[in-house]
Amino acid sequence: MSKDAVSANPSDAGVYDLTIGGAGGDFDEAREPNVRPAVLARYRDLTKLRYDYPLVLADGGRGGEIVRSLSGVVDGLLQQSAPRGIEGERDRAHVLRLEQEIRALASRGTKGSLSQLWELAESNLFRRMDAAARSALKDSLARARDALMLDGEVVDCNEETPSELLTHLWSFVQDQKARQFFDKIDRLTQGLSDILKADFMKSADAHTPERLKRSVGTAYEAAFDFEAMSRVLRVAPRQDDSLPNKRRQRINSALSVFRSQKFFLRPGEHAEAVRREAPHCFVFDSCKRALDAFQDRLPEIAGLVKAMSIAELECENRYQESAHDPFFDGLDENSLTPNDLALFPSYLVCLRNADCDAAERAKLLEALCSGLPLKVLAQSDDILDHHPVWAGRFSFGRQGSQLASMAVGLNSSYVLQSSSSHLYQIRERILRGMGYEGPALFSVFSGSHVPAADMPPYLRAAAAMESRAFPAFTYDPAAGADLASRFCIDDNPQAQRDWPMHHLYYEDEDHQRITEHLGFTFADFVACDRRYAGRFARVPRGKWHAGMIPVADFLELEAQTSAGKAPYVPMVDDSNVLQRLVVDDELILAARRCLEMWRSLQELGGINNSHASRLLEREKERWERERQQELEALRGQPKHEIPAPALEQETQAQKETVQAQPEEALEAPMDEPYIETPRCTTCDECIQINNRMFAYDDNKQAYIADVDAGTYRELVEAAESCQVAIIHPGKPKNPNEPDLADLIQRAEPFN
Ligand code: SF4
Repeated sequence: MSKDAVSANPSDAGVYDLTIGGAGGDFDEAREPNVRPAVLARYRDLTKLRYDYPLVLADGGRGGEIVRSLSGVVDGLLQQSAPRGIEGERDRAHVLRLEQEIRALASRGTKGSLSQLWELAESNLFRRMDAAARSALKDSLARARDALMLDGEVVDCNEETPSELLTHLWSFVQDQKARQFFDKIDRLTQGLSDILKADFMKSADAHTPERLKRSVGTAYEAAFDFEAMSRVLRVAPRQDDSLPNKRRQRINSALSVFRSQKFFLRPGEHAEAVRREAPHCFVFDSCKRALDAFQDRLPEIAGLVKAMSIAELECENRYQESAHDPFFDGLDENSLTPNDLALFPSYLVCLRNADCDAAERAKLLEALCSGLPLKVLAQSDDILDHHPVWAGRFSFGRQGSQLASMAVGLNSSYVLQSSSSHLYQIRERILRGMGYEGPALFSVFSGSHVPAADMPPYLRAAAAMESRAFPAFTYDPAAGADLASRFCIDDNPQAQRDWPMHHLYYEDEDHQRITEHLGFTFADFVACDRRYAGRFARVPRGKWHAGMIPVADFLELEAQTSAGKAPYVPMVDDSNVLQRLVVDDELILAARRCLEMWRSLQELGGINNSHASRLLEREKERWERERQQELEALRGQPKHEIPAPALEQETQAQKETVQAQPEEALEAPMDEPYIETPRCTTCDECIQINNRMFAYDDNKQAYIADVDAGTYRELVEAAESCQVAIIHPGKPKNPNEPDLADLIQRAEPFN
């Protein structure tokens, strides 16, 4: 097949003489603005949808709520402030309107805290209303505002989101460390001060009339003769009673190290107000600078660790100069242990594609190998960059996912990869990485840098993850000893499948509702990017042909069966008119490579593991062979010669045959449909298909409310739409329902 030809089967003119890149006639390069994958058609205006963004980076993380989605905050407010049932409808409508206005402000780049954007949104709404409507709205919003217990910066999904969110979560972990540090330092400072104070109280200076007067206070000043009291109390101190000079110096030196430390600030403490010298900075834009700073500060860390250890011994009166002096004289940065380093802040490095040249990548790998507490955000804004050596071939994810895969190979670093669209959902995993005592790499695709593109970054980032172009995974060395405990790909949509499957509903020219079941592939992701319009050819509706098949189906075909077929991606234009864009060979090759990489990840994540499957197959065969041999040996003997125990064994063997087929038994389809409700993610897909058949329970998780309220087709379609594959359609109840054979076949993977 030529480089430019989509397909070349001269026997069938119609589709197969199609060429891309300069084709004339009826086939155009797909260069119209605003075409987008058909399954994304309903996400055209994100400000009208309730989804994870914008986020509220909560101040102080009260009650563990470090980051919330705006929708989550509003749902919480409504639960508290709006009356249940119909009386609360007006309040709910008003507050949801405010939420939409805040979302629109954030999407236009308006910065500010939730309280600031709330006020702005409120005044925008008021301006567009008459007096009566304004008064009703004011009333509802005031009630909701009273219930609002948190504030914090509102961030939408854009190029700054990964660093803003990760810095916020990193700061939360550092604040926790600071609290622990000051608890310890305050306790030690108190203990050391008490020792000095007790010593001072034995001195003559502690009993001067002025000092006695100060200690009694003004209320009783007139009642005492402080001169006389001083004469009575002044007793010459015994020489051996006072603190030895060396000990006093040791204690004062530890206190001075505590006072001058530059690693932590108390909450609300501003550097300028506390000391002339600024505290250390721990956020960098280069691994080299972070590593240099870490090295430079090691002597200070060693000094602080030494002071804390001395203080502990002094407070417990266990310091023995003969044993401890030589030990502490030799304590320097080379003596520090990982436990010592864990007391101090980690170093956050935020890198973007452009910052990450070869030298920086080498430093990054050095940092990840070093075991030092470095937390690195490697943000990729564009994952469809061309490889300079293979110009013209897609080397997607070169700087992002390959870096993360390499880091997994190091074994000792925490590695997380995700698109920014999913950062909110994986916030706990990010926190775990921030708290991990060694290095951590966070590889994030922001979706925010494609020239001349009209899709919002959130959608592009979600499409990258959905299409396996930038799959999510986590490698957590602290989670266990084996790969099964450490490596996880569960955050990907429909992780068990090659491509996530979606329903496409549309109306044809005869106004009939058509449903297609489509995989979202790498080619669909590339189709979102107008730079690659030349890789697609739009086929006019009149030229659609049975030989055109969706890319996901095409990729499943063997070479012989795919010959003569034209793979396409379904797109919609600005008016939501369905288009078919045929995909060129290069892109099909790239999609195949993407699928291979995804399958390797699946194997690492324990899905379709080839070693496990092969072993299972071998064991099954061995077991089957041995069972047959045993049974044949028994059958070969005359019945009266078979000892009773042997007969029992045969019966037992038959029983085992039944028991030893758990997979088949488990795989047997259930008759009754059901949903694994506790795993429901409230995505709304099933409810949209039939809201009488499916309903939410009190936890807003779906269950089958009335199986007779819909058709078997709807059950199967819901199962196929469910992103977490928890709907099990069972068997059809109505034997006369059309297309049952096809539906039963589609239901099979879900039963
Ligand atoms: S489709 Fe699945 S995840 Fe979504 S609401 Fe229904 S059951 Fe829950």
